Amino acid sequence: MILIFLGPPGSGKGTQAKLLAASHKIPHISLGDILREEVKNGTAIGLKAKEIMNAGRLVPDEMTIELTGQRVSKGDCQNGFIVDGFPRSIIQAEGFEKILAERKWSLKAAIYFDLPEEVAVKRLLLRAGLEGRADDNEAAIRTRFEVYAKQTAPLIKYYERQGKLCTIVADQSVEKIKTDLSLILDGNN
Ligand code: AMP
Repeated sequence: MILIFLGPPGSGKGTQAKLLAASHKIPHISLGDILREEVKNGTAIGLKAKEIMNAGRLVPDEMTIELTGQRVSKGDCQNGFIVDGFPRSIIQAEGFEKILAERKWSLKAAIYFDLPEEVAVKRLLLRAGLEGRADDNEAAIRTRFEVYAKQTAPLIKYYERQGKLCTIVADQSVEKIKTDLSLILDGNN
């Protein structure tokens, strides 16, 4: 089962991706986590990505496509995986399609976490205090929303046209979203 989790920053897609990955025993692939690890380790990729990430902008498409291709080539992805925070642009979505086609894999669904912007901003500001992420300050949060609206939101239509989009009402408790998600996936199996 290959799934994409799509939605604005703060929509809870990371939390749900982790829960679902654990219950289905498949990897949760977070591009943000992979990039933060590169930054922490001071690699060439990390050095390139750091300032871009701190500002809340997107790192280059080729970089994310390359990192995703490498990650899904690992043995643990043979039975499926959940990609959280990728693709974030049409070019990335096309790159991902190529990655899947080369392996004769197909996407099961793009799960869209639908959340009003004001709610998402409030959640992120709260998280700023808890997780201390460098990009959870007000200026970076504002940029991340602008970037999301301009570059990532077009993916909703993109996957809708492919008949792959499943929408989740994300302004609910973690438990309720988890239930909704399993209903969608079971109905889809
Ligand atoms: P996230 O943890 O998903 O919020 O990602 C944190 C930051 O990493 C983003 O604000 C971007 O700077 C970068 N990033 C993560 N995923 C991508 C992606 N698919 N394309 C471009 N940049 C990304």
